[in-house]
Amino acid sequence: MGQCQLPEKMLNFRGVSTGNRVKIAVIGGGAAGYFAAIHASGPGIQVLLFEKSPKVLSKVKISGGGRCNVTHRPMENSKLVKNYPRGEKFLKKAFAHFSVEDTFTWFESRGVPLKIEEDGRVFPRSNTSQSIVDALQDTADKLGVTAHLSTGIQAIKPVAAGYELLTDKGTFLADRVIIASGGHPSLGAYGFVSTLKHKLIAPIPSLFTFNTPQEPIRELMGISMGDAVVKLEGTKLSYRGPILITHWGISGPAVLKLSAFGAAWLHEQQYTARAIIHWNGALSEQDYANQLQDYALGHPQRKVLSHPLFGVPSRLWEHFCQNVGFAADQRYGELSKKLANKLVQQLFCYTVDMKGKTTFKEEFVTAGGIALEEVNPDTLESLLHPKLYFAGEVLNLDGITGGFNFQAAWTTGYLAGISAKKEDLDS
Ligand SMILES: Cc1cc2nc3c(=O)[nH]c(=O)nc-3n(C[C@H](O)[C@H](O)[C@H](O)COP(=O)(O)OP(=O)(O)OC[C@H]3O[C@@H](n4cnc5c(N)ncnc54)[C@H](O)[C@@H]3O)c2cc1C
Repeated sequence: MGQCQLPEKMLNFRGVSTGNRVKIAVIGGGAAGYFAAIHASGPGIQVLLFEKSPKVLSKVKISGGGRCNVTHRPMENSKLVKNYPRGEKFLKKAFAHFSVEDTFTWFESRGVPLKIEEDGRVFPRSNTSQSIVDALQDTADKLGVTAHLSTGIQAIKPVAAGYELLTDKGTFLADRVIIASGGHPSLGAYGFVSTLKHKLIAPIPSLFTFNTPQEPIRELMGISMGDAVVKLEGTKLSYRGPILITHWGISGPAVLKLSAFGAAWLHEQQYTARAIIHWNGALSEQDYANQLQDYALGHPQRKVLSHPLFGVPSRLWEHFCQNVGFAADQRYGELSKKLANKLVQQLFCYTVDMKGKTTFKEEFVTAGGIALEEVNPDTLESLLHPKLYFAGEVLNLDGITGGFNFQAAWTTGYLAGISAKKEDLDS
């Protein structure tokens, strides 16, 4: 990912009318913006939220297939941060202030009980994202947060009295500003922050599946293995988890994790790479060989084709047998060492050539955004401009699939909010 400075946007500030003065302005009505606005609010502290679209919390509403995967199972922060390909160190500090447990407490104390699913993902017990949307909106309403919809910020200008915000509905003057405008696939969309001269990391996609257009394995779409290891040849990147064969190529948590941690490298390679699949992560190469030998000794008359081993589904096993060149009546007892070895290679280092990617629609995020080294991880305040804060995906941080992205939005939103509010109480 490259770093760049945007050309300064042409400003056209039209003067601020007195009605347009505000203590705290929040830019963006997503998860991070709402959480920031809620925590910035307090008696006598007016918070105005600007959202360029006609609706707030749209991503929360559609997230997790309409169920909203709100966070991930509680774990030590040192383990939690390992799920963020970008932002690990930054979030370690931020999570010390607002953790997964705090997310549980916040939603459950507002009448939204949460449940942990087997794979660690956390959803509202109601199984609908509307519960999360309602909790956020009700709390913001009670606190008197005002949302200006269809009001996009075109530019921000630091001035002596705070920040002037140029919107399509006039100019506002804010004492403090929290930018929570989310991620964008192109640098141009960050134009409204150009006047701030913050370093921007060029956005690139994260969380995608691998297209393998020339691989016959695509004919086995729908087949999955619950505990595979997928590596990228030529790198040290290797991730373990379920894998799914799709009409386009390979998908599943192991592949998505690889796409997130390998996002920059894959982008450089223009999404042309070789993946190596080890289908049963619990077994070593030697385990396969030994267990194959034991099985052959115990069941010499059984046909290899019709007796799959190692938890491999029969269609995938037949595919392996075909690749090795087994005759239909090949028996285990007649397996030569050379053939057995070829079968082990199919199981342990099956290769597929990736050419292109497909967006993972369930939860896609953008890597890139405001460079973290110019933001204080304990307060989310800009190190270049006092009383300016960032929260959520606008920052160069992103998590893998599983609720980690919302957790980052809650944590950074909370910190930006309380820091902006503290500033007010202190002054
Ligand atoms: C389909 C889908 C499903 C997902 N599911 C999950 C999930 O289940 N769990 C999970 O952890 N993550 C999920 N994610 C990722 C998660 O939604 C994001 O990481 C999260 O929403 C980021 O929150 P945010 O507030 O930073 O940004 P956003 O939610 O993108 O909100 C930013 C807001 O700012 C507004 N805005 C932008 N520019 C301006 C401007 N100039 N002026 C005014 N307003 C502006 C935008 O319109 C937007 O409403 C999913 C993502 C997608 C796309």
